Amino acid sequence: MSHWYRCYGLMDSRGRWRAWRFGPATEALHDSLTAEARRAGQVLFASAQTFAAPPNAVGVTHWRQVREQYTGDSALPHLAPLFFDVDCDGDLDKALLWARTLVEFFVVQLGLGEQAVRVWFSGSKGAHILIDPVALGIEPSAALTADMKAVAIELVRHLTARGAGDMAIDRAVYSLPRMLRLPDQVNPKSGLHKIELRHHELFQLTAKDITELARQPRGSLWMADDLPDRPVPAAAQWWSKALARAREPREFRIRTAEVVGLKVRPDGYLVDELTSSDIPPCIAGMMKAVASPGSRNRVELQIACWAKGAKVPFDEALSLVSKWTAANRPELSAENACAKAESIVRSVYGNASYGFSCIAAQSAARAVSVASPCDSCQAVRLRSLRQVYSLRVRHDAQWNPPERISLEEARGLTARIIDRRVAACQADRPGDHANWRRQDPRSRSRTGQARAAGRLCNAHA
Ligand SMILES: [Zn+2]
Repeated sequence: MSHWYRCYGLMDSRGRWRAWRFGPATEALHDSLTAEARRAGQVLFASAQTFAAPPNAVGVTHWRQVREQYTGDSALPHLAPLFFDVDCDGDLDKALLWARTLVEFFVVQLGLGEQAVRVWFSGSKGAHILIDPVALGIEPSAALTADMKAVAIELVRHLTARGAGDMAIDRAVYSLPRMLRLPDQVNPKSGLHKIELRHHELFQLTAKDITELARQPRGSLWMADDLPDRPVPAAAQWWSKALARAREPREFRIRTAEVVGLKVRPDGYLVDELTSSDIPPCIAGMMKAVASPGSRNRVELQIACWAKGAKVPFDEALSLVSKWTAANRPELSAENACAKAESIVRSVYGNASYGFSCIAAQSAARAVSVASPCDSCQAVRLRSLRQVYSLRVRHDAQWNPPERISLEEARGLTARIIDRRVAACQADRPGDHANWRRQDPRSRSRTGQARAAGRLCNAHA
């Protein structure tokens, strides 16, 4: 495994991270970090993912030094078990119930052995379930974590439909890297250890029994030789089908965009053309949001993409992103926050394939819990995109079909466009011009339309 790397993190008793390290996924490094954590009274976490070695790999470095190589354009691949973090608002009994449902699916439906479906009590109020990547035939890829999220959500939907009640999983855990407390590490809040559970324990023990068991570390319940060394056919077939379904929307977006000759971003979203430099709701919501560590990169990227799409000059974009970064990354000094923002803005402005996408922005906004239905961006989409949209029906769950508008609205829209043209022609009469400009041209309010329509009539009278 020495050609694979892993991300490691130490957390102090007050829940503060030290800078994440990045080094070979070896037993030796694991042991030395475990000892370091013990000496410093800290808790050791490691990424669920392992990463293909960076081209100029030298021992242990910091994650922030290599992060760019695993995200965005032409990223290096990573590998991970299919993982689930089952945690339902502090209700351990319920979390155990959901964990049993998931384990049952993989063991009974897919025929996986106990060694391939490993379960840990998290040390607080939930369970971690990791399905062996070899048994499922999971291949390394740069988009694996994103694909895994879609597969996990679909599985939960499937199990819920088949009677698993109000089952829900934490969707925020499908981020890169996802740091998981390592087995036998203590949770300072509960004083309990993260311990591995045998399946019979998961199914038979109560929440009270399990917390009792977690007072002591337990060690690994399996030897390396016990673990699967080849895919299990039924399970591998399930994974490859689920993966194909998860990838379809992105591949479909890329294919159709190619056919129609449109620009597509590295993440597969179509680039939207903006006709105004006003900040649309999908971006404005995020600018005010407080983002969890797993979503911060994404928000910064979307803000930078919008700035680029709106042709905001580089320096202005930098100050916009810097402001957000400084407010949302309290662990960084002002100088480091600025450096961080600069690296993002630079990579967006410097890479021709990055552009603004309202759908991508809305998806990022949902990740930071800012619901922002966005009308403004819909209105500025190019006419030529309609062709692509019609091709995407039933292929892309993230696609929002363009809204039908009423004849009255269409009249108002046309009137406003004509008004603007007229205003532009009358630019030598600045008084009237300023008057027209004061009104938001994209306002959808009925009175706005009536006024606009009225002005059109007057102009023709
Ligand atoms: Zn938008």
